Amino acid sequence: MEPIDRKTFLATAGAAVAAAGAPATVEAATASGVFLSTWKWGIEANAKAAEVFGASGSLVEAIEKGINVVEDDPKVMTVGYGGLPNAQGEVELDAGIMDGTTRRAGAVFSLHKIKNPISVARLVMEETLHTQMAGEGALQFAIAMGFKPMQLLTPQALEAWLKWKNAPHHETFWLHENHDTIGMVAASGGKVAAGCSTSGLAWKIPGRVADSPLVGCGYYADDAAGAASATGNGDVMTNYCTSKHIVQKMGEGMHPQEACEDLMRYMARSAPNLRSDMYCVIAINPKGEIGALSMNAKQPLQYALWRNGAGALHAAPHFM
Ligand code: ASP
Repeated sequence: MEPIDRKTFLATAGAAVAAAGAPATVEAATASGVFLSTWKWGIEANAKAAEVFGASGSLVEAIEKGINVVEDDPKVMTVGYGGLPNAQGEVELDAGIMDGTTRRAGAVFSLHKIKNPISVARLVMEETLHTQMAGEGALQFAIAMGFKPMQLLTPQALEAWLKWKNAPHHETFWLHENHDTIGMVAASGGKVAAGCSTSGLAWKIPGRVADSPLVGCGYYADDAAGAASATGNGDVMTNYCTSKHIVQKMGEGMHPQEACEDLMRYMARSAPNLRSDMYCVIAINPKGEIGALSMNAKQPLQYALWRNGAGALHAAPHFM
């Protein structure tokens, strides 16, 4: 799938809407929910989210259950069960979720042994007055909430870790990388929500936390403006509060695609060396209009979109 430029993207998006016939109201257009996720595993996540939304009418519930599909899949080696471990061979998970109506978020950092960090994050949001919990405390909270600790390192992930560990000159994160996260944003009836879950960079220094579980960085949602999520080099994106930047720009009136571009423009101007690194974002506004963008064509983003009862994988435009 080739990355496409903005003009082609907006033309394609416009044609799709025209072909479907313009719905009378935002409510009608988004009644069954619009779900937008990062990467190819977003297809199944969105389908599950749409099903759960149909039954529960809750965007938060839909995002949690949609992301659970990816967390449970051992073939996705960057999220949940089967995620690649840290430098010491331990799987360390991060996740966050936000309800745009209450503007409340919940997140867990460096969570071990629990395969569904997004579900624990949701409980932090809904069952406590806290917003973010880390490490051992987050694990104890999860156990108290009824989650069962388990071994998250699959044979495939162990094999990959051993290969890295035993390579004579293996790269380490005392300076560098290896990714891919599930981020999901959703809209229905003027409401939005967002979630993000990851095992972070493979072979990371134990305890490392980047953008994915940080409110305003890996995800953000506000019914007054929209929702956004990010994937890519989180050690850098954290410094730009990417999701909050995009949501704020949507709140100022930008289309989600323009808001994504505004972020990339800001990053590219502030440090030209960022133009060649991997930064990708998705966004949705309360009307269900979407944006998706990668910084450059060499590290393209694929996004999955579910709308009007059908889902598909698309190539996002690239900024440079
Ligand atoms: N942003 C994630 C992290 O840095 C990785 C990714 O999305 O690819 O942990």
